[in-house]
Amino acid sequence: MSKPDHRNLESEQLESLHEPERGQQLNSPQLESLRRMVNGSKHVVFFGGAGVSTESGIPDFRSQDGLYNLSYKFPPETMLSNSFYRSHREEFFRFYRDKVLHADAKPNAAHRALASLEQAGHIRAVITQNIDGLHQAAGSKLVLELHGSVHRNYCELCGASYSLADILAQPGAPFCTRAECGGEVKPDVVLYEEPLDGNILERAVAEIECAEVLIIGGTSLMVNPAASLLRFFGGEHIVIINRDATPRDQMASLVFHDSICEVLGAVAL
Ligand SMILES: [Zn+2]
Repeated sequence: MSKPDHRNLESEQLESLHEPERGQQLNSPQLESLRRMVNGSKHVVFFGGAGVSTESGIPDFRSQDGLYNLSYKFPPETMLSNSFYRSHREEFFRFYRDKVLHADAKPNAAHRALASLEQAGHIRAVITQNIDGLHQAAGSKLVLELHGSVHRNYCELCGASYSLADILAQPGAPFCTRAECGGEVKPDVVLYEEPLDGNILERAVAEIECAEVLIIGGTSLMVNPAASLLRFFGGEHIVIINRDATPRDQMASLVFHDSICEVLGAVAL
């Protein structure tokens, strides 16, 4: 047997430092613990951020590769604000159609896993900051959408409802098609400067308060309401699944810095 090559050894060790769990994780004791935790509970709540949808091809707003790096005239926070919507409605919809709507996106393995774990009686609710409706498309029933949904739109004058297909069928900024109305149709999406829906927020708090296990996925937990909702949790275990480290990793029983599709997909097997 030849002498071990120290250079190779060192570079392997370096790689393993940079990617501590990749590759080994799916059969790790940590994953087995998560499986036991979820299968042993009837009240798991999932709280998800943009990272849950990135593997469906929907870019993360706040990540470096997300919308912030795109060369638009205004930053996304400006274009997705209520004041911009009021003052530049055409421009808002140009950006909204171009970069926010992803009508062709399909649920991924994480969405499907959560739906099947709900059906199996383990997941009690999904609380999401995403507006794409992919949890419902995967079959989840109890979904609390903190930031609304692109699938719901309403006329600001008469209150008539419009589907995403209705919005896509009109060019530019959409208007109410009811006879003699012609009001402006607005997506039921929480824009910057707008408050969250108090009713949805209350239900989310109630779910988190009585959850046994809280799984947090695809969010850096740096932005509210994610960060502030955590303090309502009184259960046993917090699990964090996120590509990057989060400021709350220390308080979690289990932390996975890995693909949410791979981790949840393996739990729901
Ligand atoms: Zn109308």
